[in-house]
Amino acid sequence: MQYPLKNHSFAPQARSSFLLILCGILLSFCISCSDSDPSDSNSSSSVPSSSSTSSTTTTTTAPTTTAPSSPSSSTPSVPAPTPTPEPPSLPPACQEISNTVRFVAVGDTGKGNQGQIDVAAGIEKVCREQGCDFVVLLGDNIYESGVSSVDDPQWLTKFEDPYRNINVPFYAVLGNHDYGGNGAGNEFNKGPIEVAYTQKSTKWKMPASYYRYTTSAVDLFALDTNVMLFDHDIDAQKTVLASWIAQPMATWKIALGHHPYWSNGPHGNAGQYDGVALRGYQVQRFIEQNVCGQVDLYLSGHDHSQQWFTNNCQGTEFAVSGAGASPTTVNTNNPTLFQSATLGFLYIEATSVNCGKTNSLQATFFDSAGQVSFSRTLTK
Ligand SMILES: [Zn+2]
Repeated sequence: MQYPLKNHSFAPQARSSFLLILCGILLSFCISCSDSDPSDSNSSSSVPSSSSTSSTTTTTTAPTTTAPSSPSSSTPSVPAPTPTPEPPSLPPACQEISNTVRFVAVGDTGKGNQGQIDVAAGIEKVCREQGCDFVVLLGDNIYESGVSSVDDPQWLTKFEDPYRNINVPFYAVLGNHDYGGNGAGNEFNKGPIEVAYTQKSTKWKMPASYYRYTTSAVDLFALDTNVMLFDHDIDAQKTVLASWIAQPMATWKIALGHHPYWSNGPHGNAGQYDGVALRGYQVQRFIEQNVCGQVDLYLSGHDHSQQWFTNNCQGTEFAVSGAGASPTTVNTNNPTLFQSATLGFLYIEATSVNCGKTNSLQATFFDSAGQVSFSRTLTK
């Protein structure tokens, strides 16, 4: 019973307090209305800006620059979560691939003499120091008249023994001496014997009298130029070479043949071999019609020297590497970047790369002591 009386006795004071609070709220509201009058030029609270006066506003409303408002919401409810910006998209990284092939190219080797043994020692040294995947023999593999069978003892004295310390495959092309006749090249049954020896030797590789050998960086097209001199197999080689070139399987394309296009040695240029007009014109015509502009490099032997020619034929460069056993002289009939009448060999390192990087082919003439005589680098 005392509680109502007690409460009642306090009622007038509570009403007064309530009225005072209500007046205060109304007064505050009126002040606020006055402050937000847009006609008041001193007011900035309603103008979003980067000034300190806007900071209050921006903390109570959703950020407009990064958080899009929800079109379905009419009330400023919980601000939408700020999405994490996506990182700028980058092009997919190129998976770099690099293939390098290293090989020796040398011709006119098969004499079984001290010169062949000396050059073999130089090849062995460079291959041991720099690496070799294989050797190319550029013809006249067995002097003076080729072999009579796969069991001919010359295989040992003029190939297996001189190169016994070079344990890589030897890919060979046929020269005029391989076809007999003391270099006349007219014993046509002798070429196939060298092809057949591929089945007997672990090192000798001649899958056919003309063939393709493709590596990861170099496509090699081995030709039989000796039979061209007798008008044999010209169209067949033209057709198959065109098909190989039409479907390249490596960055670098190199044609191999025993007979040179240009040469400053005693045999001379194709079409003028041995100073006889039209001799070798079949080789000259074949190269001009089927090799020029189609391959990066044409390698040959026949003359026993080292030559790299200044000129090219529609971009195809020419080199002679025939100093594999017995050197012969050189003249100045054709301009050369380098020529030498001493024993030696050519060493090639070809690299094939992707991702827009530059492919390189470095060709280096070494002497029989394994010393560098000349180096040339092709790029593309
Ligand atoms: Zn020859």
